[in-house]
Amino acid sequence: MHEIVQRLIRIENQIKEEIAKLSLRGFNIDIPKIIAVSKTFTLEVIMPLIEHGHLDFGENKVQEAKNKWSEFKKKKPQLNLHFLGKLQTNKAKDVVKIFDYVHSLESTKQAEILSKYETEYDKKLKYFIQVNIAHEKQKSGIDPKDINNFLELCKSKYNLNVIGLMCLPPYVDNTEKYFKEMLDLKISLPELSMGMSNDYIKAISFKSTYLRIGTKIFGERK
Ligand SMILES: *Cc1c(COP(=O)(O)O)cnc(C)c1O
Repeated sequence: MHEIVQRLIRIENQIKEEIAKLSLRGFNIDIPKIIAVSKTFTLEVIMPLIEHGHLDFGENKVQEAKNKWSEFKKKKPQLNLHFLGKLQTNKAKDVVKIFDYVHSLESTKQAEILSKYETEYDKKLKYFIQVNIAHEKQKSGIDPKDINNFLELCKSKYNLNVIGLMCLPPYVDNTEKYFKEMLDLKISLPELSMGMSNDYIKAISFKSTYLRIGTKIFGERK
């Protein structure tokens, strides 16, 4: 079996073990989905995972994703492509064309233009609102106190299918604090997109439903 497939299976088993441990302690947690974050890797490198049956892949650059996935997605429409990068409005058209999920919705301007292209292409995507959970100046995302208003606007004015919240917490020891805040913020939304190669095990106990894992599956990026 190919090495990257083995790595994915190892991660899946580790997740199941963690969930079994939590269950013994009285916490019932559903198995989260794994988004294999394939940015910078070619389709050739990714192919063993697709052949293994994995369907969820994450990218953070529109042009790269377009070159890599456009043709292939026609052959295999059941693939779920997740956009994880900063969303520039001049790329919104391609985002709507190529992707199924956007994890980085964070402005009214984006919501407006995405909504316009959804109508134009008669296609609905699923959205996560990116939350700037640690109030970091250099990071994107909506301030936690503004989530409800923004969510309401996305749904009522722009008719976007917002399914959850996403965060990129700082690389620190107390990631749990931020994961907990995310869980408290998500209220009625069904999904949470949090946990990466370095912290996905922690994210499980805070009920993350989408883990975004790159390095741990594909190896270091150049
Ligand atoms: C690159 C990236 C990931 C994956 O990071 P790893 O540390 O390689 O697992 C997850 N989420 C976002 C938004 C990313 O840009």
